[in-house]
Amino acid sequence: MVEMRDVQKHYGDHHVLKDIDLTIARQEVVVVVGPSGSGKSTLCRCINRLESVTSGEILVDGSPLPSEGKQLAALRADVGMVFQSFNLFAHRTILDNVTLAPIKVRGISKSEARAHGLELLERVGIADKADSFPAQLSGGQQQRAAIARALAMRPKVLLFDEPTSALDPEMVNEVLDVMISLAKEGMTMVVVTHEMGFARRAADRVVFMDAGRIVEQNTPAAFFDDPQSERAQAFLSKIL
Ligand code: ADP
Ligand code: MG
Repeated sequence: MVEMRDVQKHYGDHHVLKDIDLTIARQEVVVVVGPSGSGKSTLCRCINRLESVTSGEILVDGSPLPSEGKQLAALRADVGMVFQSFNLFAHRTILDNVTLAPIKVRGISKSEARAHGLELLERVGIADKADSFPAQLSGGQQQRAAIARALAMRPKVLLFDEPTSALDPEMVNEVLDVMISLAKEGMTMVVVTHEMGFARRAADRVVFMDAGRIVEQNTPAAFFDDPQSERAQAFLSKIL
């Protein structure tokens, strides 16, 4: 579903993604871990073209990333993203937040978008908040609304960049539970997170990044119980 071939990314003379080769299969759940500044967010942002790569190639569902225009909008619709800060439109209702992009970008009718939006709000457990505004929701509910909004575009792959890092601890699980059910339903997902319990439960593969490189990748059990590189061992000794 996603293929990165020899991807390099520079910011000026700062080389932040180095020799990235990564293939993500349909329905695979990949958790990306690594120290702060190792390039995890940049990797996600390159996959949905919020950032351009310096060289190398990224294919989504077999197609190279277009650089502009309508094709780029369509690609962004295929690659959903959920951020640490929920980024909901503050002056729109929750249901509007979920339906605006499908109407605008996918060109579906208002009534169809509304029916699908309500279904998605039901699925993430906040159907009763459809007519509320973001500020009236808890952080966990806002993040679940953001997930519904991403799903509304019927993406082929969903990227999550530290989706629970801004939440109070008691709200983390309600968001992770939604993500676990998406994983079980076969959504292709790339998840940057420090939630190792989630990684053990939901990930098919853990990718460990350090200083812009993929240093190691393995099944969660193998990675957490028997990390191979010194850098992964040092990282895990700090967070576990
Ligand atoms: P992570 O998400 O793993 O913490 P990032 O992908 O955010 O890491 O950052 C990787 C490196 O790229 C860091 O050194 C960061 O300072 C740098 N960086 C990220 N975004 C920018 C930007 N827009 N301009 C310049 N440098 C950036
Ligand atoms: Mg980051």
